[in-house]
Amino acid sequence: ATPTSIMAGSGRAAEYGILFKGGEYLEQTGAIDTVVVDKTGTVTNGEPVLTDVVTTLPEAEFLAYVASAERKSEHPLAQAIVNGVKERGISLYETQYFEAVPGYGVQSTINAKATIVGTDKLMAQYGIDVSSSLSQKQAFEKQGKTAMLVAIDGEYAGLIAVADTVKDTSKEAVARLHQMGLDVIMMTGDNEATAQAIAGEVGIKQVIAGVLPEGKANEIEKLQQQGKKVAMVGDGINDAPALATATIGMAIGTGTDIAMEAADITLIRGDLNSIADAILMSKKTMTNIK
Ligand code: ADP
Ligand code: MG
Repeated sequence: ATPTSIMAGSGRAAEYGILFKGGEYLEQTGAIDTVVVDKTGTVTNGEPVLTDVVTTLPEAEFLAYVASAERKSEHPLAQAIVNGVKERGISLYETQYFEAVPGYGVQSTINAKATIVGTDKLMAQYGIDVSSSLSQKQAFEKQGKTAMLVAIDGEYAGLIAVADTVKDTSKEAVARLHQMGLDVIMMTGDNEATAQAIAGEVGIKQVIAGVLPEGKANEIEKLQQQGKKVAMVGDGINDAPALATATIGMAIGTGTDIAMEAADITLIRGDLNSIADAILMSKKTMTNIK
């Protein structure tokens, strides 16, 4: 490609809120055949809201423990829980201990009671019997909600669910990518049922769920080993290694700085239509110079 056509292409893309970090990425993007999108904050708005509380304890007491356990976590799920509980006028406890377990949840000590909030795998690590939660949990997940289990003082104590909404533009953007002949895959740390429900809302047929933060880059490598030219689109700290590993990493401009640093392209608008736009602009630039 000539420097002039690359410069013109980059300038035009920038007008659409698509920032290429270098001319070589503008050249390579047109060859992408597989687009992997993160769920939370990429397909969805990334602003989950506390929607459901199920517990055998007095609800306010239960919520005080849950929100206190989450108050030091920076995870969007934790923020949703803390905000939802504070909105209900419930005051929080001091925590004697706190630890985030990335991809699983949090563990803390409150009023000398071990308080654990997170996935069934986290509960299994502590030998907590959560069998009584299963049908309720599955019902929430079918609605696309993320359900988190809670154990207090070594006993299952209840579950809470949060809901995130899909971006208005995600469905149309996925349809455009399919029309262009691209494979679209959603990848998330969230569970299979929730992921399938969200994917269904936006027309994504392939889902890789339950991926631990360190596993996302591995999943990209697996696709590349199958000969795929993969674009990864994400917004979180969790996504950074996968963004760096992908043939082309695209960071959502409303996301974390770490994701933008790891990526080759920043999509300022956060609208997934920018993925198709970037690919089309790359193709156009490359044909102009032939
Ligand atoms: P995502 O890819 O959606 O950002 P993560 O990998 O961060 O998801 O987390 C995977 C799962 O671990 C979440 O869906 C949730 O069930 C659980 N989890 C993570 N962080 C927390 C937290 N602070 N509190 C409760 N559960 C959590
Ligand atoms: Mg995300």
